[in-house]
Amino acid sequence: MTDWRSTPFDDDKLKEECGVFGVVGVSSAANFTALGLHALQHRGQEAGGIVVHDPEQGFNSVRRFGYVRDTFTQQDVMDTLPGPIGIGHVRYSTSGSKGATAIRDVQPFFGEFAMGGAAIAHNGNITNAASLRRELIERGSIFQSSSDSECIIHLMARSLQRNIPERMKDALRRVEGAFSIVAMTRTKLIGVRDPLGVRPLMLGQVGDGWVLASETCALDIIGAEFLREVEPGEMVVITADGVTSHRPFEQKKSRFCIFEHVYFSRPDSILGGQSVYSTREAIGRELAKEAPVDADMVCPVPDSGTPAAIGYSLESGIPYAMGIIRNQYMGRTFIEPSESIRNMGVRLKLNVNRALVRGKRIILVDDSVVRGTTSRKIKEMILDAGAAEVHFRIASPPTAWPCFYGVDTPQREKLLAATMTAEEMRTHLGVDSLKFISLDGLYRAVGEKNGRDPASPQYCDACFSGDYPVEPSDQVQNGFQLKAAE
Ligand code: SF4
Repeated sequence: MTDWRSTPFDDDKLKEECGVFGVVGVSSAANFTALGLHALQHRGQEAGGIVVHDPEQGFNSVRRFGYVRDTFTQQDVMDTLPGPIGIGHVRYSTSGSKGATAIRDVQPFFGEFAMGGAAIAHNGNITNAASLRRELIERGSIFQSSSDSECIIHLMARSLQRNIPERMKDALRRVEGAFSIVAMTRTKLIGVRDPLGVRPLMLGQVGDGWVLASETCALDIIGAEFLREVEPGEMVVITADGVTSHRPFEQKKSRFCIFEHVYFSRPDSILGGQSVYSTREAIGRELAKEAPVDADMVCPVPDSGTPAAIGYSLESGIPYAMGIIRNQYMGRTFIEPSESIRNMGVRLKLNVNRALVRGKRIILVDDSVVRGTTSRKIKEMILDAGAAEVHFRIASPPTAWPCFYGVDTPQREKLLAATMTAEEMRTHLGVDSLKFISLDGLYRAVGEKNGRDPASPQYCDACFSGDYPVEPSDQVQNGFQLKAAE
């Protein structure tokens, strides 16, 4: 039986692992959290969970598979989640039981400590989780899930500090990798970002309440005002009285994930003070400068290639057109597709606008090439529809290295760019030309005028460069080679 969560129609993209949300000081934290998670659904469609606290009813939680709209719109579910403080999580698994996720791996996780309960929701990936887990189990911890994030709860349980925020600091000082965490006690909402700030975390205000969310689009949906990003290495502790800021880690230069700008974040979100949409448009403009080609039409691979295609068109002067139309109603229509439907693959989701492309030289703009499987099918569809030429322009450099910081990537040997040169990839995809934006061009598009500083890169770009800002220690122990071959 095919599991709908494995998304057989969209298997050639990197997938963001999680989105987090938290709110305090509102009448119904669960309602706000459900809306916030709905806005963050693109960061994880496999499962979602909400934990709340109510002074009379204590802690309550609901964790389920499927979309937020399917669970957290049901009145009988929402009635079990009263209280003015809550956190939530949407998940697409990378750590934990991959593929066949168990409900025990669905966050937020909850722990009962001597000073009261606490729940945490984690976006990112702990690169030393296997060693930590081994150590904790040897010392008596009993794990409830296979998720790396549960290590944090056990490390907190072992701390001798007297309150939850201090215990979290102790725990997180042992953790390596990427984390943006939203946590809660009975009265406190806590947000933390790892010292490199790999994954995003936003702070907002709604009425007298406070909000934390992976992206600003989750603030917009509840009418919250965006105040600022939680800074790399910062912990914010929020009560009804306001926000206090802590610096529990040794200060480092930030290395935010540059792929958030290219693909993961929603185009209506703000990152680093600029709209994700306009950054993607700037990427398209850079791509047009770096890789011009004589053609009749610029078409996006919808939806994620759209802003870059508009940028390419504006810069090159070549008309923009919707040569490929996306079926917006894929959803769960084919929850358990039969073999014959599954074989239709990408055609279920994308269809070529034949009348538009026939006889034309087409520039197709996509955000990335991972395995190349979808790119090949799209090229076939465009040629079947009568296009004269197909030129691929890709809004990110070749993805040649796996991510260990909270993004699901295939193993290195499955990444097209890890095994082929650019010309080999072009032949493999069967297109007239194939060009990727350069790493410097990408840096310029995100606002670094002089491009990438090779001595001290401003972002994490490891999936393009092999330059990992935090050594994935457990993976290295297992023989993973860190450096790109010169
Ligand atoms: S390796 Fe790539 S996807 Fe992962 S955090 Fe770095 S830039 Fe982002």
